[in-house]
Amino acid sequence: MSLAVELLGVRGSVPVPGSDVIRYGGNTSCVRLTLSDGTNLILDAGTGIRGLDVPHEDGEIHILLTHLHLDHIQGLLFFKPFFDANAEIVVWGPPPDDPPLRDMLARYLSTPLSPVEIRELPARVSFRTVPLDGFRIGSPDIESDRVLHRGVTLGYRVRDGTNALCYLPDHEPALGRALNEADDDWISGIDLARGASLLIHDGQFGSEEYESRIGWGHSSVSDALLFARRAEVEQMLLFHHDPAHDDEYLDTLGGQAVEDWTALGAPSEAVALAQEGRASVYQQRPPRPTGRVPKRVGGGRHRASRIDLPEMVLAYAPVCRGCSRRERTGVHRDLGWFDAA
Ligand SMILES: [Zn+2]
Ligand SMILES: [Zn+2]
Repeated sequence: MSLAVELLGVRGSVPVPGSDVIRYGGNTSCVRLTLSDGTNLILDAGTGIRGLDVPHEDGEIHILLTHLHLDHIQGLLFFKPFFDANAEIVVWGPPPDDPPLRDMLARYLSTPLSPVEIRELPARVSFRTVPLDGFRIGSPDIESDRVLHRGVTLGYRVRDGTNALCYLPDHEPALGRALNEADDDWISGIDLARGASLLIHDGQFGSEEYESRIGWGHSSVSDALLFARRAEVEQMLLFHHDPAHDDEYLDTLGGQAVEDWTALGAPSEAVALAQEGRASVYQQRPPRPTGRVPKRVGGGRHRASRIDLPEMVLAYAPVCRGCSRRERTGVHRDLGWFDAA
């Protein structure tokens, strides 16, 4: 009984080939999970998916897309099982299903951008919208929720026996709030990450870099670490490396991450920068006493309502009737996701 995690692409934004990125890798986001019952899950379909082959004898393949930015779907056209007439593939994507996920992806998988039309793919491919109230593929329970990033973006939590993996590759939870001060109710993605055995999280920028990139939808390494500590994860991998960062710079960033992580009271071996080609296996073990706190359903401490604000400021923003705090953008446990921009 084990959960296997394989990092096929760890780069963000655009693939970067070159001798200066060999150790961390240049392919964009793609992670393969093989679950204890043999279920094949692929998280995102960046260019890292190109080298992956899953024989149809291994059963249905499920591709879970967090969002449709090109760095997360660009590898679809090069995914070998799409060209196997006996393969069964389910592609999951974010709501709303309007226009349908298939039509959205066909914008890329059609002329003039592609030599192959989506309808011509030989495999049996279906397209489904991720339900936000949880779903199951094989043995694992999967939870998903909208998280802070530009455009509609999901995060995933995959629970396989006693292990839970959380995948938040494009995420800026510190947008508009200091993570060391914010109430849990106002931190995007924290319910998905809480107590995870492994968190794979956006850590695209160094702290100084981030100052000029606030609102781009990505995290600084220090914010990612703070988020991970707030969520009390066991291990974390910093992911979605900036295309401008070569191996040498990433080594420096990784060293800084370990220092910051230990300063937050966590063990140094529990944090690392993701490296393409790395794989790890999580064995089943007794559950942690500090397991995940179940998501509250309605009636939380904060009560949010939408109100109209001057057009110049915001179209709308939620106000907590409990504490009167007004937030401009974010994810509130009771209100759900909103973006007042
Ligand atoms: Zn991305
Ligand atoms: Zn993105």
